[in-house]
Amino acid sequence: MKSGENKYSGAVYTDFTDRLKQIYFAMDQAYNTAAGHYGFACAGCRDNCCRTRFYHHTAIEYIYMIEGLNALTLKKQNEVKSRALSVLDETARADDNGEAVRLMCPLNFDELCILYPYRPMICRLHGIPHELQKPGQNPVQGPGCVTFDQQCGPSYFKFDRTPFYRDMAILEGKLRQAIKFDGKIRMTVAEIIISHASGMEHRARGEGHI
Ligand code: SF4
Repeated sequence: MKSGENKYSGAVYTDFTDRLKQIYFAMDQAYNTAAGHYGFACAGCRDNCCRTRFYHHTAIEYIYMIEGLNALTLKKQNEVKSRALSVLDETARADDNGEAVRLMCPLNFDELCILYPYRPMICRLHGIPHELQKPGQNPVQGPGCVTFDQQCGPSYFKFDRTPFYRDMAILEGKLRQAIKFDGKIRMTVAEIIISHASGMEHRARGEGHI
């Protein structure tokens, strides 16, 4: 295996991750247009959304994040793994005690995401008011984050998540069909990091073969 390659860098995955990058690009453009309309900026946010316990559900985003992790130096990978272990330990302790915690994502260093180009969909879409229309249902509007409300107040510039969710679902379906995977994924970034570092990707993938 050449330097920079990993088990997910073969042609079967590249077609899918290339398509994912296109979806991410469209997402980022729409987000930036809406955020620009409000003049909304995340910089210096005290209620950092990288402390939110987001769950990620797609094999395609999992694979792309592994690609990003493998692009880090070994030293950084080890540092990230150590942080992820701490997050998992602290989360388990808090859950056992029935406490709510907001722990920083292991990929956030000095308030910056070190895998910014690889960050998952929810990290890209969070923060500004939006709408979403699930199949067969009426559109539902969702709020911005606390910082958005403080900065921009109650207003709405159309930001429709529907096409991004739809494109992601189609891509995920095609990937799962191609690799014959029907496992359920529900993982935080910390769990993705540890599953990868432990060589246990199969746990995220159920009985499938990625
Ligand atoms: S992946 Fe990046 S953007 Fe998403 S929560 Fe972690 S540090 Fe923040």
